[in-house]
Amino acid sequence: MKGVHFLISTLAILASATFLVSASDPSPLQDFCVALNDNKSAGGYFGANAVFVNGKFCKDPKLVNANDFFFSGLQNPRNTQNPLGSNVTTVNVDQIAGLNTLGISLTRIDFAPNGLNPPHTHPRASEFLVVLEGTLYVGFVTSNGDGNRLFTKVLNKGDVFVFPIGLIHFQLNVGHVNAVAFAGLSSQNPGVITIANAVFGSKPPINPDVLAKAFQVDGNVVDYLQKQFWYDNN
Ligand code: MN
Repeated sequence: MKGVHFLISTLAILASATFLVSASDPSPLQDFCVALNDNKSAGGYFGANAVFVNGKFCKDPKLVNANDFFFSGLQNPRNTQNPLGSNVTTVNVDQIAGLNTLGISLTRIDFAPNGLNPPHTHPRASEFLVVLEGTLYVGFVTSNGDGNRLFTKVLNKGDVFVFPIGLIHFQLNVGHVNAVAFAGLSSQNPGVITIANAVFGSKPPINPDVLAKAFQVDGNVVDYLQKQFWYDNN
């Protein structure tokens, strides 16, 4: 009997764990929860030192209007004169307060010829990329358990590619003209970790012994890399 009870409680724990690891933003429990930039407009109810929660405070629904769901300006090409030759324009919950709790966001990515959106991951979102102009060489790498396989594709105007949540991915303009892509992401706040910036440009720097051993290189190489300016194109 004890064994049966143990089995049942183990199954119950497994079932709830499966629910908890569901990989997307939580579903809303109302039509919308337009984010407030601070908690003062919540009527001071939460006090000056409100705790951080998973999401943002909601605006009073009666005060919500169309502008809370509106953003303008994504038609404009962005400046790609930088070391990477790319520029990511983000439209997430920080730009559209009405995206709070909805689990989606958007970016426009501009590329100069040879421009690169360098290897990065989004800790909280899968990504759907659509090429509007130009030709991009894109790819992602699977996890260690899958053997770190590289999946790549050359995309032309109208082509779409998917980057699964958490996996390292990149896009390189291999055409002779500027390229433009739009991407949809499955979080109101996907986050970006650019690999080179995080590893070699952390503040304070990671102990060089850690990086020399991890990358199996001489300390001078690590020193050189840690002295570079790691441009953030986001
Ligand atoms: Mn991305």
